[in-house]
Amino acid sequence: MFEDYDIVIGLEVHAELKTKTKVFCSCKNEFGSEPNSNCCPVCVGLPGALPVLNKKAVELTIKAGHTIGSSISPIAVFERKNYFYPDLAKAYQISQLERPICVGGSITLDSGKVIRINRIHLEEDAGKLVHKNDKIGTLIDYNRGGVPLIEMVTEPDISSAEEAVEFLMKYRSNLVFGDIADCKMEQGGMRCDVNLSVKKKGSSVLGTRTEMKNLNSFKMVQRAIEFEARRQVEEIEAGKTIVQETRKWDDNRGRSFAMRSKEEAQDYRYFPDPDILSVEISEDVVNSIKKTLPELSHQKKLRYIEELGLPAYDAKILTSEKYICEYFEKVLDKVKNPKIVSNWVMTEVLAKCKEQAVESLEEVISVKNLAYIINAVQDKEITRINGKELFEDACYSEFDAEEEAKSRGMVVKMSDQDLEKFIGEVMEENRSAVADYKDNPVKVENFFIGSLMKKTQGKANVEKARPIIHELLERSVR
Ligand code: ADP
Ligand code: MG
Ligand code: ZN
Repeated sequence: MFEDYDIVIGLEVHAELKTKTKVFCSCKNEFGSEPNSNCCPVCVGLPGALPVLNKKAVELTIKAGHTIGSSISPIAVFERKNYFYPDLAKAYQISQLERPICVGGSITLDSGKVIRINRIHLEEDAGKLVHKNDKIGTLIDYNRGGVPLIEMVTEPDISSAEEAVEFLMKYRSNLVFGDIADCKMEQGGMRCDVNLSVKKKGSSVLGTRTEMKNLNSFKMVQRAIEFEARRQVEEIEAGKTIVQETRKWDDNRGRSFAMRSKEEAQDYRYFPDPDILSVEISEDVVNSIKKTLPELSHQKKLRYIEELGLPAYDAKILTSEKYICEYFEKVLDKVKNPKIVSNWVMTEVLAKCKEQAVESLEEVISVKNLAYIINAVQDKEITRINGKELFEDACYSEFDAEEEAKSRGMVVKMSDQDLEKFIGEVMEENRSAVADYKDNPVKVENFFIGSLMKKTQGKANVEKARPIIHELLERSVR
């Protein structure tokens, strides 16, 4: 019966902006501080305190709009969204309704499908309720209150859990690569609401939707969508109607529960905040912010394929996180061989960091150490096996790989004299091959390269040895 239905999804995604201070006061925007230590009369909503808009927050919102091709409103207005909840002491949230900063835009999925975006607006985050045990009850931490938050709203263009997750990953990577938001989902830095309805296949009338709020991992989004779509189809098939409501997703139990009936915009009695002037955004400002946008993940991916000649698979993995390509590019700067650097980063370095969550791959192994090891193996200064051993020991350790290679006697750089001596020896040992040079020059030259490598256990430098061998063989026939 599920095949007879289409799933219709619209997402509302909140992300905390990467500013030093909050959106309407100068308190620190910082995760993990002592509870209620980053607060002032403005952000806890004491009567009479006046908000002052943070310019940087507006700029980052415009920047976010640029990543998805929004138009930027020439005039943006902040409004009060009135509701009471203990995490919002002043009983209204400063948000935007009629004139958001960014209007329209889209993200294209790998399949080519375009997901239209309705808007991005800027608002303030609320405090956080901390639920303790029965004796203590619930505590409130207002540090998060007033942190700048952008809310992005899509049109109902998404048709499956997979599309929703791909969309979210792409939007998240725009914000992270654009240096707009860190989007640390485990810290609540990015949260997602899923609006979902189902309809008979092919019907053009949308069904009644439910909304699941504050899903904070991609896995949760995936599971919540799969459950809710199935639940709605089962209800309809059983002859019941879907109620428009807000539902709570319980990840432990793997199901959603009715929470409250859906509120309408009018329930919030939005009105322009009289304490904040409307914001004029000039075209010059919009353009100059556009210029500050760094290369985004999908642009890097294309460049890695087209300019660096990497396989699409490598490019996709390397650009999947900002910290991976930052590291990759630093190593590439010292090694100059994209595919070899990519191999080391993907198979060795990334394998090491699965065990621990890292912010930068430099925590696993420094750029300097990895670049030394790769170059030394490539130049046959150390053997591949020794290179691997050095790599293992250099991970999460302080040492200098080059020093260590020397002190462990791994460096097998051969002196020019030694090289000539070995070449002399193999030629002496293979006089009949020398005699054959006149008839089979290429074959004989390669034979001596091979013999030399065997004799030196692969330690001779071919680029250096080849011209010497060539010269000696030429001399033998003159
Ligand atoms: P509200 O103002 O009630 O929050 P919006 O029009 O802003 O409603 O829509 C909120 C989200 O719900 C948007 O992402 C939108 O695409 C999505 N949405 C709207 N109608 C439906 C529907 N019938 N089924 C699924 N999603 C929907
Ligand atoms: Mg909404
Ligand atoms: Zn404050």
